[in-house]
Amino acid sequence: MPHREHFPDPTMRFDIVTIFPGIFAGIFDHGVVRRAAAAGIVQVHTHDLRDFTHDRHRTVDDRPFGGGEGMVLKPEPIAEALESLAVAPKETRDPSRESVILLSAQGKRFTQATARELAQLDRVVLLCGRYEGVDERVNLLLADRELSIGDYVLSGGELAAAVILDATMRLLPGVLGNHASTQFESFGLSNAELAEAETANSETAKAESEDGEAQPAPTSTHGAGGLLDYPHYTRPVEFRGQTVPEILTNGDHLKISRWRREQALEKTLRNRPDLLETAELSDHEREFLKSLPTLR
Ligand code: SAH
Repeated sequence: MPHREHFPDPTMRFDIVTIFPGIFAGIFDHGVVRRAAAAGIVQVHTHDLRDFTHDRHRTVDDRPFGGGEGMVLKPEPIAEALESLAVAPKETRDPSRESVILLSAQGKRFTQATARELAQLDRVVLLCGRYEGVDERVNLLLADRELSIGDYVLSGGELAAAVILDATMRLLPGVLGNHASTQFESFGLSNAELAEAETANSETAKAESEDGEAQPAPTSTHGAGGLLDYPHYTRPVEFRGQTVPEILTNGDHLKISRWRREQALEKTLRNRPDLLETAELSDHEREFLKSLPTLR
């Protein structure tokens, strides 16, 4: 059972090690991250890598052994930064509580599943690379995992760190007004995972309903189960000649629910057919997909 659900600790801590701490000045001062920090659910600390150098020029990089383009971030300042943060040495680190992540285009792909995994931890340290990258010994000796946010090359790990922090912290209990929305969205849990999460949360739900604050179960949506979310509409009913699908305005929740599932299937087929290979689909849903014109 994940640590965080057993011993709900009010604060998850993120530390970001970077040569450009200023990049983060505005990005976490808005919306959900700001509210989560104000509520004491997350703490975000940025650290200037140059503070862990000892020469006059505050040198963090050097030329690559073996020749080649550009500069490489040196391992010593990064090691010292981690020591200053009192992160346990890699051999004794408890992977169910803290994780040191090296941002890297060569890393494993960060996904919603990774975000759910990280949201169970007490603490995540994000190491941002720059230039040609980071001395490989940081990966070997200091980091627990190397993560990439996608198949493209950024000029630094800072935007990737912000992406990982954002996607992770919004899954923490209490961050979003309606926690159910994190289960009924794109890349959502499978039906089996949802059932497991519901059992785990039933005690909390009971306590909440005694307080009279329970959210009603979202009967009009389905667990996305690996599909993309369905399309959303709000007022006005008619916008530039395009009307909201009638089914959404006639109040038949069963029909709405079925329509949304079909829309999610159709959108996934159109935009991310790869997701259909692992999505949980009924025979009826497979038939429906086959009937769509794009499949032919
Ligand atoms: N030479 C490297 C790219 C270095 S880019 C390569 O070809 O793989 C400089 C830094 O940006 C990296 O050290 C990493 O921290 C960050 N970065 C670049 N692309 C990234 C991605 N897709 N995901 C996460 N971090 C990335």
